[in-house]
Parts: sequence; C-alpha cells; structure tokens
Amino acid sequence: MNKGRLIIISGPSGSGKDTVMQKVFEKHPEIRFSISSITRDMREGEVQDEKYHFISREEFESAIKNGEMLEYNIYLNNYYGTPKKPVDDAISDGAEIIVEVDINGAKNIKKQYPEALGIFVIPPSYDALKTRLTGRGTESVEQINSRLAIAVSEIQEATNSDIYDYILVNDNLDVAVDELISIIITDRSKKERKINILNEVLKNAKSGNR
Ligand code: 5GP
Repeated sequence: MNKGRLIIISGPSGSGKDTVMQKVFEKHPEIRFSISSITRDMREGEVQDEKYHFISREEFESAIKNGEMLEYNIYLNNYYGTPKKPVDDAISDGAEIIVEVDINGAKNIKKQYPEALGIFVIPPSYDALKTRLTGRGTESVEQINSRLAIAVSEIQEATNSDIYDYILVNDNLDVAVDELISIIITDRSKKERKINILNEVLKNAKSGNR
C-alpha cells in the first residue's frame, strides 16, 4: 500500500480554488476531501456537509476542548477548522486527502505534518481577483474589501514563506485542473510514498534468494 498523503490547498478568497478542486474530484473520486467545520452563516447555494459542516460557536468550542480539531483559525469573526479524524483515517488508509485551509491553517498543519504537500492557488492578476470577489454578489462592499485586504496579505505571506511547494495560477480553468492533477499524480511517485513497496520487493528478493 502507498503511504497516505495530506495535501494542503490554500489561496485567497476569489482565487477560484473551489472550482478547480471540484473538477479534480470529478476526475479523481479516489482523492478525499476534508470537510471543515465552520461557524459562519451559510451562503446561498451552500449545502450542509458538502464543503463545510456548519455548526454553532458552542459546538465548535467544545470540539476544540475535546481535542477534535487538527487546526482552527478565526477568519472575519468566525471559526474555521479541520476535524482531525478524517485526516488520520485517510493517512492510515493510504489515501490522499485535500485539506483546504487559509495560510494560518497551512502553517499549523505543516508543524504537525512537515511532509504535507502544499499548493497555493492564485488568480492571474490583481484585477482578476477583484472582479471575481465582486462578481460573486453574495457579500457587502465592506466584506469584499476585507476579503481583498486579507487576500493581498496572504499572497504576500505565501511569497515569503516555504509552506507551499507549488503555485497554481488559475487563469484558464481546464489548464489549472490539469496542472493540479499532474502535481498530485507526480507526487504519487515520490520515494517516501513508495517506501512500503520498495521494502516489500527487497524483502521478497531476500527470501527468494534463500
Ligand atoms: P470562505 O468563507 O470564503 O468559504 O473561506 C474563508 C477562508 O477560510 C478561506 O481562505 C479558506 O481557505 C479558509 N478555510 C476554510 N476552511 C478552513 C479550515 O478548516 N481551517 C482554516 N484555518 N481555514 C479554512
């Protein structure tokens, strides 16, 4: 069995990472997705337990107390966090799991899983980011401006840190989807993920030689 893999995907709000990931899951249903628990209100079109598990602040705080969160962060006054169990299960099953978190979440996860693969998604330009955030039509001007300011500081931080192994520029959706799939497929051949198979071959070679 291959070793499991935790794949961190971050990118500013408006980078289009959700759409890219959705297409990747359609083509590769074997890749798991970590459903975050969050306390913000549901946006129109969002479905409970599809991308997010929407819970109350009280429920979130008790999950933190019980040690059920791998990481969490407060973003625009709401909790966002990654439940621990699905990640542990995926790794012990030898599966890949994508965890979509902000840069603080990525840092936290890297501390616990230094070998996690980090991918940062960016829009092709600042203008594209602005247009995408405004075009969504689900938030107030103030919320859009806060998201823009956070987006710029996240891009700045991603540029200056070594959390991310790859930068995915989401200009053309199909190209971005192909690139993300290529990154994940190439990563499957990393030596540390094949160590079980290498050891198995060597063990059998030794016993076969006797
Ligand atoms: P949104 O409200 O636009 O869905 O998400 C806001 C931000 O929260 C995004 O940058 C997203 O990547 C991040 N986020 C989503 N889930 C989690 C999580 O479980 N943990 C952390 N730290 N950030 C998350």
